[in-house]
Amino acid sequence: MNPQKTLLRKVGKAIGDFRMIRAGDRIAVGVSGGKDSLALACALKALSRRSPVEFSLHAFTVEQGKFVSPVDHLGDVLRRRGIPWTYYVDEASLRLLDDQPDHGCDICSRFRRRAVYEVASRLGCNVVALGHTADDLCEALLRNSLFTGRLSALPAVTQSRSGDFRLIRPLVYVTEELTARYTDDAGLPITPCVCSHRTGTVRERLRTFLADLRSDNPHVLENLLAAMGRIDTQRLLDRRFLEPTEPQPSPSETAPMLYPVDSIASVPDRDRGPVGVPPTSSTG
Ligand code: SF4
Repeated sequence: MNPQKTLLRKVGKAIGDFRMIRAGDRIAVGVSGGKDSLALACALKALSRRSPVEFSLHAFTVEQGKFVSPVDHLGDVLRRRGIPWTYYVDEASLRLLDDQPDHGCDICSRFRRRAVYEVASRLGCNVVALGHTADDLCEALLRNSLFTGRLSALPAVTQSRSGDFRLIRPLVYVTEELTARYTDDAGLPITPCVCSHRTGTVRERLRTFLADLRSDNPHVLENLLAAMGRIDTQRLLDRRFLEPTEPQPSPSETAPMLYPVDSIASVPDRDRGPVGVPPTSSTG
């Protein structure tokens, strides 16, 4: 398997399937220093060269004080590939880190989202490409089902709450196994964040659970992903999507009557035949 070819094919398919990109789009792609977002930026750049639809790309990195080492080299790597790069220090996130060093993912990602929109807006972009992978979708599906009672994962395409940006996830068909092989093959440097070593989180437990299942059946992730595109609404419990299950009337009940019931009442008894059959003429 050629990781680059496979990556481009899967990203291209996702873009086509969900109509993610339109002519003239200015796409901001957040590069976190991990393998997924780096693979995404490089794949989008490669596809922009052969796309029938013209679009531009601008990478950026939000500094939230969590990288284990400086990320300047990201700029060199991306610029060498023809992708402009912006480094944005999010002062609000740094203050959060000082004030609440043990803050959770919820608040951290909220701060990051605000910073992402800020950068995208400054760059004059109308689209933000996010690096969520097939693994993230599968974990989100399990997390939402098990912990929030909702059968949902992550949208492939959606609009930001303000309506200012189209948010796209071109890696929805791409597994992290593939982004790892791609970045390895291409010799791309990975800069982890301190959180990558966190244990005991729901995310980490779901990852372990899926990895455990995959050791018996290597297609578990692909199957879960395929299941999201093949919903059998009749075998779930959301009544909004259920077709009526009451017995359907038999054809004889729905067939038009040959003789209206009201008219039968006015026909003398002697002239009445079976219901629906016109009386014989008294003059005949
Ligand atoms: S894992 Fe770390 S960087 Fe990622 S959202 Fe959670 S706290 Fe923030």
